[in-house]
Amino acid sequence: MRLSSFFMPTLKETPTEAQIVSHRLMLRAGMIRQTSAGIYAWLPLGYRVLRKIEQIVREEQDAAGAQELLMPTIQSADLWRESGRYDDYGKEMLRITDRHDREMLFGPTNEEMITDIFRSFVKSYRQLPLNLYHIQWKFRDEIRPRFGVMRGREFLMKDAYSFDIDADSARRSYQKMFLAYLRTFARIGLKAIPMRADTGPIGGDLSHEFIILAETGESGVFCHKDWMDLDVLKDAPGMEDDLQPFFDRVTAIYAATDEKHDPANSPVPDADLVSARGIEVGHIFNFGTKYSKPMNAVVAGPNGEAIPVEMGSYGIGVSRLMGAIIEASHDDNGIIWPDAVAPFNVGLINLKSGDAETDRVCAELYAKLESAGLEVAYDDRDERPGAKFADMDLIGVPWQLVVGPRGLKNGVVELKRRATGEKEELPVEAALAKLL
Ligand code: ATP
Ligand code: MG
Ligand code: MG
Ligand code: MG
Repeated sequence: MRLSSFFMPTLKETPTEAQIVSHRLMLRAGMIRQTSAGIYAWLPLGYRVLRKIEQIVREEQDAAGAQELLMPTIQSADLWRESGRYDDYGKEMLRITDRHDREMLFGPTNEEMITDIFRSFVKSYRQLPLNLYHIQWKFRDEIRPRFGVMRGREFLMKDAYSFDIDADSARRSYQKMFLAYLRTFARIGLKAIPMRADTGPIGGDLSHEFIILAETGESGVFCHKDWMDLDVLKDAPGMEDDLQPFFDRVTAIYAATDEKHDPANSPVPDADLVSARGIEVGHIFNFGTKYSKPMNAVVAGPNGEAIPVEMGSYGIGVSRLMGAIIEASHDDNGIIWPDAVAPFNVGLINLKSGDAETDRVCAELYAKLESAGLEVAYDDRDERPGAKFADMDLIGVPWQLVVGPRGLKNGVVELKRRATGEKEELPVEAALAKLL
């Protein structure tokens, strides 16, 4: 992508409405535009990152055996009356009336809809276990939308739903998602801690929230200090293995959200207990027959008897993750994207657009990098070098390749790693070889 034609409306000034760094940086980098309170348009740069995050989430769901489908955003109120949640959900639910006066709603979550789909088609225990997921926009009329995409009203969520014939099998489905979540967040470059959590309006008894520790997090959390430098996926089993020992080992290290933590009965002595703030990026629930019973989602068991299915649901805040990544990875100059989700792999900076030799070498590097499958932000704009450096740091591209007439006289270009600031001068071919 040539930045001279890329739609990336960066801001020079720090936007005053943004209270936390991720929100400020997303606005300054021209990634999002608020269109109403808590509702955002995703501009090209932001959308590139959103799709990268979404794809990692998708690959790990697929690897865990979940199957992707897509349900609509608009749902019928009748389904929610069946589960009893239509009235319970309260003001967070955006209620809509269509032209025939039918009551509809913009889905805040999809337990009811997926249960309806399930009961329409699945009739036998032989078709289980089943896990279905989608990545779809949700709407929750949050009382205080804030912090940009961290607490939006419209936001992108991955939600999966598991169906099993009995509690043992449901536990295995839960453990698969537990492992899939740890893998997902690690691939994104984040350290997420699974914490025992309250089940809230979703219901059920077994539940974990996945929390990124951050001062700006909205959740109060407690965990054993062993979590601080734990490599949780070291010696992790494969998806087809027995996951119980792994699950027991990980959950034995104490971690709980403040709703679940009881200071009077803390299993961890004060000296070993970390009390911190965190961002909830994922939440998994096992809620048994809470929806299958009232909605009559039953299958025939081995002896023909009608068995209500055991269910779980598993959410990841795909759009919130973007804010969480930036909170965890930035410096005074801007965003530092982990390689896996960076909007571009390489930023190519032309220090003197218009200089024939510099233009020629840049064009050649650009073509070679792109044809090798790398995504390149080529800054070919007619701007001062200082402005180009500042923008490239701001948008956080992991590698910067700097090309100017002075270096080229000596046959070298400069390669900079955004995360460490490390710079190296080297011949064009050697720089290419490092990146490919
Ligand atoms: P919170 O406690 O932050 O309000 P929640 O517990 O209500 O979140 P869940 O119902 O567990 O949310 O939804 C699954 C995931 O969706 C959450 O873990 C979070 O990552 C994401 N999410 C929830 N609400 C929002 C929001 N308003 N904006 C962005 N992401 C959200
Ligand atoms: Mg909420
Ligand atoms: Mg919560
Ligand atoms: Mg939650």
